[in-house]
Amino acid sequence: MAIKRRQVLKNAAYLSAMAALPLGLATACYRNQKQKVVVVGGGFAGATAARYLAMWAPELDITLIEKNRQFISCPQSNLVLSGNRRLSQLTQKYDHLQADKSIRFIQSEVTAVDVEKRQVWLADNNPLDYDRLIIAPGVELIYDQLPILATTEAQQHVPHAWKAGPQTVLLANQLKSMRQGGVVIMTVPAAPFRCPPGPYERACQIALYLKNHNPSGKLLILDANPDIVSKKAFFTEAWQQLYDGLIEYQPMNPIESVNVASLEVESFFDSYKADVLNVIPPQRAGKVAEMVGVINVDNRWCDVDYLTYESTAVERVHVIGDAVSAKVPKSAHIANQQAKVCAAAVIALLRDKLPEQQPIFSNTCYSFVDGEQAGHVAAVYRYDKDSKDMLPHPSGGVSETATKEEGRYAEAWAENIWADTLG
Ligand SMILES: Cc1cc2nc3c(=O)[nH]c(=O)nc-3n(C[C@H](O)[C@H](O)[C@H](O)COP(=O)(O)OP(=O)(O)OC[C@H]3O[C@@H](n4cnc5c(N)ncnc54)[C@H](O)[C@@H]3O)c2cc1C
Repeated sequence: MAIKRRQVLKNAAYLSAMAALPLGLATACYRNQKQKVVVVGGGFAGATAARYLAMWAPELDITLIEKNRQFISCPQSNLVLSGNRRLSQLTQKYDHLQADKSIRFIQSEVTAVDVEKRQVWLADNNPLDYDRLIIAPGVELIYDQLPILATTEAQQHVPHAWKAGPQTVLLANQLKSMRQGGVVIMTVPAAPFRCPPGPYERACQIALYLKNHNPSGKLLILDANPDIVSKKAFFTEAWQQLYDGLIEYQPMNPIESVNVASLEVESFFDSYKADVLNVIPPQRAGKVAEMVGVINVDNRWCDVDYLTYESTAVERVHVIGDAVSAKVPKSAHIANQQAKVCAAAVIALLRDKLPEQQPIFSNTCYSFVDGEQAGHVAAVYRYDKDSKDMLPHPSGGVSETATKEEGRYAEAWAENIWADTLG
């Protein structure tokens, strides 16, 4: 088709106008469309990032992809084991996010990512383009050392219950149907893992169940770590005060094999027979991180620039939440805080501005020792430009003892973070 003279003049005028614009704006105009941010994972990190991107930068085209129909909170899921929560109390629909016109919510699974073409592929074979990609896939459970437990069928006998949902209910039901005087064995993987105080809170909730319904039963904890990983004095006191004789704790005792049928466990030191066996396996960044090629620490975690959460392996891809290799704890609270730092940085980068150079955030993690009493660990982290890391500020602390008042704070914390995450 011949190009008309008027069209040539129009094009020339357009190009000279473009040349006068700052680079970022010119790129945006050239595309003649909104810049696209795709967020993968609608958990504590991803959903928060999508919401704050939408609030702070309405000019963006934001897509959030989540494979599950419902959000189920890991925080407080240990209380399902003692009968102090129902899973339905921890389950929420994504309806607020779905109704939010500033976010395109897609319920689907990401199956591939092409970082050259900057495209995310979904289970229905639809590609989505991105200018910036934020991945928040949580953790994948690793069964390399115990491949016998890798199948869904094996996990029906030996639950992990480390992703809240049917596994949590399964473990609760196994406790209920255990014979009087039976032995529950819980194994703890070597750190780092999702929620450092989580296994020890779980010990309290299992012991509470035993105390109320099976007082001649026992909980044996086989911990791969040299000691209780988080809130040691707090949990030790709770176990002595509330559950004396019900809990036996063995540190430095990683398991080496499991018999799924007989529930026998071998460790380096000894063999044990369980009536209920809860193996919490080691973890790594969720599968999407592997697809994108951003796992670059210990073959498990993703290294990032802590100013922007951009991967150090693949540009324009940001990683937040449990998948990040960081010295900070893998908690919902940290996932939520990283999401906000990342959202602000992505907006700055897309506007050709310098991201905040000294981010500061906090962590608070409550643990329930029974149905009502809880205690906290809290810390403030600040970016250190020399080490390029988030370092703890000398503040914060740990509760010495659990109280009902802190139990109410823990409730309020959960309500607030669910609302902040899901809208
Ligand atoms: C028993 C237990 C108790 C805990 N208690 C606390 C607590 O009291 N306080 C606290 O702060 N933290 C607690 N945690 C830790 C907390 O749950 C995690 O740190 C938090 O969930 C991490 O958030 P995330 O967004 O990184 O991952 P997640 O919340 O797991 O979200 C990841 C999301 O990505 C989605 N996804 C993954 N792959 C794909 C894909 N291919 N396509 C689409 N979607 C995908 C998943 O479906 C999921 O919704 C606890 C954890 C456990 C196990």
